Amino acid sequence: MTYRLTLEGDVTRHLIYDPTTSTLIDEGDGNRMVHPAFVTEGPVSWTVPHRVSPTAPGYKKDVRVLKIQMGFRCNYACAYCNQASWNSFLGGAVEDAKLFLRNLDGWFHPTSTDDIRIEFWGGEPFVYWAKLKILGEELRRRFPRARFNVITNGSLLDDEKVDWLIAHRFGVQISHDGPAQTYRNPEDILDDPEKCRLIRRMMAAAGQIEDEEAPPCPNEPDFGLGFGTVLTRWNFSLAAVRRHIEDKLGVPPGSISSNTEEILLPYDDDAMACVPRDEAEHRKALHTLFSEAANGETVPGCNSVRNKIEDFLDSLGKSRPIAALGQKCGMDREDTIAVNLMGEVTTCHNVSAEDAHHNLGNVAGLDAVRLTSARHHQTRDECRACPVVQLCKGSCMFLEGDHWQAACDVSFTYNTAMLAAALYYMTGLTLTRIDALDDGHIRRPGVAAAEVIRLASPHSSKAMETAAHA
Ligand code: SF4
Ligand code: SF4
Repeated sequence: MTYRLTLEGDVTRHLIYDPTTSTLIDEGDGNRMVHPAFVTEGPVSWTVPHRVSPTAPGYKKDVRVLKIQMGFRCNYACAYCNQASWNSFLGGAVEDAKLFLRNLDGWFHPTSTDDIRIEFWGGEPFVYWAKLKILGEELRRRFPRARFNVITNGSLLDDEKVDWLIAHRFGVQISHDGPAQTYRNPEDILDDPEKCRLIRRMMAAAGQIEDEEAPPCPNEPDFGLGFGTVLTRWNFSLAAVRRHIEDKLGVPPGSISSNTEEILLPYDDDAMACVPRDEAEHRKALHTLFSEAANGETVPGCNSVRNKIEDFLDSLGKSRPIAALGQKCGMDREDTIAVNLMGEVTTCHNVSAEDAHHNLGNVAGLDAVRLTSARHHQTRDECRACPVVQLCKGSCMFLEGDHWQAACDVSFTYNTAMLAAALYYMTGLTLTRIDALDDGHIRRPGVAAAEVIRLASPHSSKAMETAAHA
């Protein structure tokens, strides 16, 4: 399906966009449009991922991205958490971690030049400190060049753990939702001076700030620290999150590294209460996200926003075919696996092997593991008729029913804002409307058009200002 995009500002322009080839044409002169920084010469070759579905399940082989699920215990009980449904799974004992390492060579054998990523997942990973130490130290010994990642709420950090994380060259991400943190959990670690000191220590080690008491680590250049934010109906402003964190830490503006998991995907009924509930809240999210990206408040500061916009501009430069587009989270990939300490493979690190639907088999028989619980975006009716599929990449691949519909809605809002920001960078104009062409529709039959950014005046040249205050 193709779509007619209306852009407004000092002038009005119409563009024709085909998401199946990520091709953008100026309706006025018929020329293809590409951002000058993303022009690609010559043909591009693409790998075509398997379109996984329950009837065409995916496989796992030649693993290069290893997500180790240590258990779902957490010292917090947040109002929303994409793992909340599974917290009865405790994850196994220290002996299981040792056995996991003994068996690892049987199914995980990357070459020394492969780009390997190993992630250590809870619950809260530092609840599993004894297992985390065993796993991290041995895996760093075996895979000195691998990228290590851990996502934590930060509340259990102390100097011993910080020393260890730096020495073993982890990428550490602290989950924090800025001004909306109190809706998630009453405790804000940034109100604790000791936790702020530890975070500043890690920022100094990562070279993000100067700190006389904590010099950077010249021999450990891989160590990194960032903050990860989930947007909920209580806050759609990534700029406000950044300000909140930097103010509380007492570090200069622009010094933290930040990411977002976008708007919360509602994995259960509790989470449904935390996402935008009506048209007005979706509109507020859309306008906030667009204006902050277009005004430069989240680009380049927020890595996720910058990467998404650059990826879309690159897709235009290369006319990326839809067949080359895998899922947003990458868990449909053959080389990417989530596994617990008993060797059970799951759909992803956010779900438990205790749920038979998500238990895909055991690494002891990796050839027999089948990803039967997921659906690639091109197997979904909505995604095949979606103008932002090249940005969204299908939201969560296992949700179904009402949760899937709500996840699709918040994903559409977030990614339409990113599309509008990308087009603003290309044209200086504001995306105000998307129309489906050739009797098509937008996601759902009967929806032929979508209003995007609402300008106060149809020919306002101050599009950003208008959007920011809408
Ligand atoms: S917004 Fe919805 S329809 Fe579009 S790609 Fe994302 S999940 Fe699919
Ligand atoms: S399948 Fe992907 S998007 Fe869905 S919960 Fe797992 S990691 Fe997240």
